[in-house]
Amino acid sequence: MVTMSAAPNPSNPLILVVEDETTLAALVLANLASEGFSVIVASDGERALECHRDHPADLIILDLMLPGIGGFEVLRALRRKQDKVPVLILTSRGGSEDRIQGLHYGADDYLSKPFAMLELVARIRAILRRANPAEAVKRTLQSGPFKINLIQFTVHRGRTDLSLSMKEFRLLEVLTAHPGRVHSRRDLVNLAWEHDARPTLRTVDKHIQTLRKKLGDNDDHPIIQTLEREGYRWALPVH
Ligand code: CA
Repeated sequence: MVTMSAAPNPSNPLILVVEDETTLAALVLANLASEGFSVIVASDGERALECHRDHPADLIILDLMLPGIGGFEVLRALRRKQDKVPVLILTSRGGSEDRIQGLHYGADDYLSKPFAMLELVARIRAILRRANPAEAVKRTLQSGPFKINLIQFTVHRGRTDLSLSMKEFRLLEVLTAHPGRVHSRRDLVNLAWEHDARPTLRTVDKHIQTLRKKLGDNDDHPIIQTLEREGYRWALPVH
């Protein structure tokens, strides 16, 4: 089966997702499409190679355990043809042997399931940036008094390092990616938690509370605004 994101934009990078778990494939497709990528999903290795021949991808996300020919075979077939398309291996086989084999066959990166969507997106951007430095995305954001480094995962207020937890950083990254937009708690779970995590919405609120505290946010002029029953919004412009 082959699925394509709605109205793929030819000027956006095209990502081929090779994944036979339909729920995960749909989730990855929806998230990457909402990040502005054009996405094609192929549910097995043969179809992946056909897809890539007909619509050459800018990056391939490759599951290892596939029906028919496996992910390693797909990768070897590509490299035999001198195809240098960046490949990110995505698999539940997290053993270091697989990782070494994958890198040996010419994979560019490796991410174990379960993973957070935000991490997948960050790695995709990093790989595309390496592949095409001219299209480098921003590494640091400035918002009000905050300097956010998306590569080093640091946030400074003036000279003070706010030492956020990874979860708080991911929440901050999601909120500042679309300043002014209201994010429901459900959206925040989808974007900042591992795809199989089931945190309660109350847990989201707690992480937001600690994040606000670390940012020095105050209720009179909140930087992270709470919209009753709707969600949260980053109130400052981001540059
Ligand atoms: Ca699989």
